[in-house]
Amino acid sequence: MTAAEFAYLDGQIIPWNDAKMHVFAPVAKYGIGVFEGIRGYWNEEAQQLYLFRVAEHLDRYAFSQRAMRFDDGPSRDELGEALVKLCRANEFRTNVHIRMMAFIDGFGDLGATGPVGTAITALPRQTPRRLVQGTSAQISSWLRMPDNSMPARIKCNANYHNARLAMMQAQLDGYDIAFFLNSRGKLAEAFGMCVFIIRNGQLITPSGTNDILESITRQSVIELAREYLGAATVERDVDRTELILAEEVFCCGTGAEIMPVISVDRIIVGGGQPGAITQRLMEIYGTIVTGKNNAHASWRTPVF
Ligand code: PMP
Repeated sequence: MTAAEFAYLDGQIIPWNDAKMHVFAPVAKYGIGVFEGIRGYWNEEAQQLYLFRVAEHLDRYAFSQRAMRFDDGPSRDELGEALVKLCRANEFRTNVHIRMMAFIDGFGDLGATGPVGTAITALPRQTPRRLVQGTSAQISSWLRMPDNSMPARIKCNANYHNARLAMMQAQLDGYDIAFFLNSRGKLAEAFGMCVFIIRNGQLITPSGTNDILESITRQSVIELAREYLGAATVERDVDRTELILAEEVFCCGTGAEIMPVISVDRIIVGGGQPGAITQRLMEIYGTIVTGKNNAHASWRTPVF
């Protein structure tokens, strides 16, 4: 039982329960797939569902496939249209989370580069309140896999086994989320999110060469902080103790949006509450993604 009637598989909108693949497909045997998570935001006043930064997600989706040596799949236009069609078919009038995956189908082996299947699902999803009020983070004993082991800057299904181990450890130990250090011992990112700290009023985030995913929300936050707060972000190495020294720490990502962190390894960060700059960024981000603020219209794709 799901909250969506339809899914998309290989060019067709089909009933949710019919969206199936074979157990012998390379995606089932080895997890050979790449994916994107995309959010849609319902604007009640405009009676419109806006998909956030579709162009950037399609760019990264294409790059992920190239990095994993996939054959060419459907065109960019076809994929963009499929996202909209699926949301229309499900008649969503609420916030949604879309997952699109390119996967190796057929009966090939580890070296198969095709045929490339396309699966898209969309389900209603709101931001969990507990995460907005502030989360507790554990610095994981699992390291973020280095980019020369698995391409860290793409969304390849297999990368998420690294994240899964860290997340499960954190939750078993009673924390909400996990932070990863990289193999050089510097902060990389959180489970499924990038990390910002604020020290002496300065926004700081690990640079793109710290084995992070090239996050679209991270880029949006950098741009919005510059435009609305007049604050430039420094991209550099971040040490683990800086997480504790910081006035504010927050994570960001498509699914989690902007998520304040209020303790790290049980040490209270800032005042133990979401910080002022974090809250301001959450507000600004919220008005942009929903289209309540008209700025950055090119970031929003209307569904209806
Ligand atoms: N890191 C990882 C490993 C992720 O899965 C995500 C979520 N896509 C992020 C960071 C945040 O990236 P984005 O802002 O593009 O969603």
